[in-house]
Amino acid sequence: MKLNRETLKGKLVFLGTAGARYVAFGFERQAGGLYFGFPSLNVHVDPGPGAFVHAHRKGIEPHWTDVVILSHRHLDHCADVNHVLESMTLGGKKKRGLLLCPSDCIAEDPVVLEYTRKNIEKTEIVKEGMEREFLADLSVSFPIRHLHGVETYGLIFKWKGTVYSYISDTKFFEELLSAYKGSNLLILNTTLLKPNPRIDHLSAEDARVIIGELKPDLAVLTHFGRTMLSAKPWEVALSISQETGIKVIAAYDNMILDLESLSVVRQR
Ligand SMILES: [Zn+2]
Repeated sequence: MKLNRETLKGKLVFLGTAGARYVAFGFERQAGGLYFGFPSLNVHVDPGPGAFVHAHRKGIEPHWTDVVILSHRHLDHCADVNHVLESMTLGGKKKRGLLLCPSDCIAEDPVVLEYTRKNIEKTEIVKEGMEREFLADLSVSFPIRHLHGVETYGLIFKWKGTVYSYISDTKFFEELLSAYKGSNLLILNTTLLKPNPRIDHLSAEDARVIIGELKPDLAVLTHFGRTMLSAKPWEVALSISQETGIKVIAAYDNMILDLESLSVVRQR
């Protein structure tokens, strides 16, 4: 199903579900990030490799984007950020748009070019605890710095009283539980099947703990590494759902979620 400007409103599109090196850069799944079509603001979170093309193929014109948010500078989260920003400004013709990212995305060895940043309206540096209001009924906050090597934040959108959380890459730590408390929708980057102390990513076991504790209305697993793909993410989601009593689904590429009903839009 292709979207258009009208049908994008109130939808969240999973332009990718690939996690980490092998799956993202072996192109076993797409890595185009999350596209939030809030009715008066389009936000592209973590535009990884191919984001620009995947959005376009789904009917989303990249120049509709108003805000781009990077959770961190790893390329599976930002490889296409320059394409998206360039598109937002129609090749630098129209100064518009906002970029939110951690400071090391634009510091030495920047992942966002100075050239594309000059063409947009504003770049704001994300810091722990920051809250940013976009519209009267729409805001984003970055509750806690994650443990993931480089500077990394998850985010929480509040829209019309509903709380949409995205726990981006991190290893598990206790404070995640209080930081994302009260989420209606909880998206978890669940890269590993089993915890691996040498890899700073959440595992399915961590996801079960977080979901069981936070009890969102809906939890969505995404950002899968190879161990998750071989275990069939939908089966992992089902078992977490059975254990916790919470509705848990595994995202698939180009999945569309209705932001109001928190249900998957059936596609033909
Ligand atoms: Zn990462």
